[in-house]
Amino acid sequence: MVKKTQHTFRKKWGQNFLTDTNLLRKIVKTIDPKPDDSVLEIGPGEGALTEIILPLVNHLAAIEIDPKLIEYLNNREDLRDCHFIHKDVLLQELSELPIPAPIKIIGNIPYNITSPILFWLIEQRSNWNEAYFMVQKEMADRLTGEVGTKAYGRLTVMIGAFLEVETCFSIPPDVFIPKPKVKSAIIKMEKRHDPFVLDENFNRFEKIVASAFSRRRKMLRNTLSGFGISEELKEKIDFTRRPETLTISEFSELAK
Ligand code: SAM
Repeated sequence: MVKKTQHTFRKKWGQNFLTDTNLLRKIVKTIDPKPDDSVLEIGPGEGALTEIILPLVNHLAAIEIDPKLIEYLNNREDLRDCHFIHKDVLLQELSELPIPAPIKIIGNIPYNITSPILFWLIEQRSNWNEAYFMVQKEMADRLTGEVGTKAYGRLTVMIGAFLEVETCFSIPPDVFIPKPKVKSAIIKMEKRHDPFVLDENFNRFEKIVASAFSRRRKMLRNTLSGFGISEELKEKIDFTRRPETLTISEFSELAK
């Protein structure tokens, strides 16, 4: 794809645009949009993904923070059936979108706000059913990290308590303008039918997980001493263990 505008790339908004048509088609094939789908795209940029998905679905909305890009997108005759919203996605209520629920959420998202976007997804999980994001490869590895590995950490547990995450494929840096320093990956996310944590236990769960992983070389008996964990539970979950050896289910037990 040739750069279509005289756009000045803004680093603060994570602007690395996709330029490889084959890759864009591969991403869309993975997302597999169906005519009845209601799709929300986060960060359409100049519309590289938007223009392929729009003819395939009945409802498409896209949220973009950059006013210059919104002006450009709104002027594109071929994209007039897409609802463009000029907003910070983190301030968007999914229930207030101009497209029907449930929603499929997609996006080559700004890497600097990947974690906040993931927590935003969890908070609003009653309004969407599937999500496909391009993220840093390192982030994909963390989100899908197996218990006991280096990649397994706070984010694996926090996100994994609510969502099932799968890496679809990796992407090299040279398909973007400007070229990022890191590798990327497409991930697919679905909601767990039975999340590991109930809403009422969420705050305690978040604190326990953060505290346990704040010093991952330390045993739980040191990092979790202030949480009033029962002796019975300590018998069940050996407190000489280190945080990366605990499954998500075991962390959820501690938060009950
Ligand atoms: N989808 C385009 C592509 O693949 O070429 C652009 C992807 S670029 C990595 C991320 C896009 O998200 C940029 O267009 C950027 O302006 C936009 N963006 C950054 N922060 C945002 C936010 N908080 N809310 C909505 N859009 C945002």
